[in-house]
Amino acid sequence: MSDIINSLPGSRILLRLMLLAAFASFVAWPLPGVTQQPQRVVEAFGPFKIIGNIYYVGDKGNAVYLFTTPEGHILFDTGYPETAPVVRESVEKLGFRMRDIKIMINGHAHVDHVGGHALIKEMTGAQIVASELDAPVIESGARRGDFRGPRANPWAPAKVDRIIKDGDTVSLGGVTLTAHHTPGHTLGNLSWTTTIEEGGRRLNVAIMPSIGVNQGVRVVNNPRNPTIIDQYQNTFRILKTLPCEVFLSPHGSHYGLEAKYARMQAGAAQNPFIDPVGCRQYVEAGEARFMKQVEEESRAAR
Ligand SMILES: [Zn+2]
Repeated sequence: MSDIINSLPGSRILLRLMLLAAFASFVAWPLPGVTQQPQRVVEAFGPFKIIGNIYYVGDKGNAVYLFTTPEGHILFDTGYPETAPVVRESVEKLGFRMRDIKIMINGHAHVDHVGGHALIKEMTGAQIVASELDAPVIESGARRGDFRGPRANPWAPAKVDRIIKDGDTVSLGGVTLTAHHTPGHTLGNLSWTTTIEEGGRRLNVAIMPSIGVNQGVRVVNNPRNPTIIDQYQNTFRILKTLPCEVFLSPHGSHYGLEAKYARMQAGAAQNPFIDPVGCRQYVEAGEARFMKQVEEESRAAR
């Protein structure tokens, strides 16, 4: 936008100022008590088979996974509302049908992961499964339930059909995914584990959770989430015990999606998504980053 304004002839300074003011008031007029969402970037990626019965059907930044079974499919996350058409295109390009998606699960209730839930549910009629503490966020389109406060640009609410707790499972057509409550990033943040058969081997698959602290979130003395440090520390303990050979997460950037996909395309001898070392490092680096933030905030508070 500023490029457009700057390209106007210099003699029309008043017009430029008026345009700037109009534009600034349009983008920067936050509702009171509401935090602005980051800009949404949606770029198609893949789609492709990751391993076994697991397919990548998300956009470049926001992972969406399709677990296929003979009795219908399970979808993990839906990305932004703008990701929903990418998901549909990807599923169909792979030769699957949207209406065969029977169950939708998620990692956590932020707009870049469940913003497309309402749209995908409309396309599929699938049952939405969510954790107890993130369900209100999905059902209100982030108008409530997010400890950071109500969000700007809320998305279409989607009704949650089944509430799950730590250790609960989701099963369809011989595929079972187990939910692990790993809070911190959100109150109801989930990790998922399952196994797949690949080349005669049984492999442990883990969808690790987002473990970063969102910008602007304090971890020391956060009145909106007073136990956030305990939540994170417990979560890191749990994550270290999850069997993880095939390493996935809600964002491709967490596990080097683009580089691994490129290696796969180049004919890598072993499937690059089998990455137990990367999985362990993801958790360890996340923990180190978190503890550094705790230390820095504690020092500043003294
Ligand atoms: Zn998030």
